[in-house]
Amino acid sequence: MRSAIGIDIGGTKVAGLRVAEDGSVLERRERPTPADDVPATVETVAGLAAELAEGGGEAVGVGAAGMVEFAAGTLRYAPNLAWREVPLRDLVSERTGLPCVVDNDANVAAWAEYRFGAARGFRHVLLITVGTGIGGGIVADGALFRGAHGFAAEIGHIIVEPDGPPCGCGNRGCWEQVASGRALDRLARAEVERDPSGRIAALAAGDEVSGRHVSEAAREGDPAAVAAFATVGRRLGEGIAGLVNVLDPEVVVVGGGVAEEGAVLLDPARAAFVEAVEAPEHRPEVPIVPAALGNDAGAIGAAALALGLPA
Ligand SMILES: [Zn+2]
Repeated sequence: MRSAIGIDIGGTKVAGLRVAEDGSVLERRERPTPADDVPATVETVAGLAAELAEGGGEAVGVGAAGMVEFAAGTLRYAPNLAWREVPLRDLVSERTGLPCVVDNDANVAAWAEYRFGAARGFRHVLLITVGTGIGGGIVADGALFRGAHGFAAEIGHIIVEPDGPPCGCGNRGCWEQVASGRALDRLARAEVERDPSGRIAALAAGDEVSGRHVSEAAREGDPAAVAAFATVGRRLGEGIAGLVNVLDPEVVVVGGGVAEEGAVLLDPARAAFVEAVEAPEHRPEVPIVPAALGNDAGAIGAAALALGLPA
């Protein structure tokens, strides 16, 4: 069976998989991401790909956060990382001797969910990753929609609160500031200030409080934590409604670390979506479903793209 290498460059680790054409994972390795050191990160990605390729694989796919010019294989800009104008595809290809494709991390995750995961069987798909920030991938009529340059679906940076919190992209009040892990971080700090003897403060135990503590408290049913998720979930659902008005997908798949908390986030998102989307009673229901492939989605999708697998 044909196989390819898929690499997902995360903020803390670079995950590499060798993936068969049916989507199954044949081998996995990972290394820490050398934060803020672009040449070292490129070397980590290329080295990991070369290592995995010793076991087989006819091509390499790489998913990276930020604006990727797909045709050129260049990572042009990442709002929260040091990447600027890096010809990643050619660098990896030279190192491994294999053909390579580079795409946005949410695009490759969307492709994985479309081919092998929660969106299998649909042709029009919106994927939203809710982690520290928000990423997006669009499958339109069975093909990834990348726009004119490859920059489409940078949905996290739609301004929804002009006077809102500052964003890594230089603007204020981007959607990812109010509807992702960053929003949970802020709500966590506010809650600890409001109730220093509450469950979230107890879980932080003197460390810097973050969304992670909110997740932990919400799993225990702590009302303040559940309320924080409801706030973030509602902002998520409102944003999804706007995107569904624009794109008219058949299904919305929500992945990413924060979304893994499940119903505590997705139920309020679904409720806000139905209130905000245009004429819900005059359109077929648009299911908002959890992603199926978890942390592997990016690398699996990158490998599938590298294999050029048809829809
Ligand atoms: Zn932004």
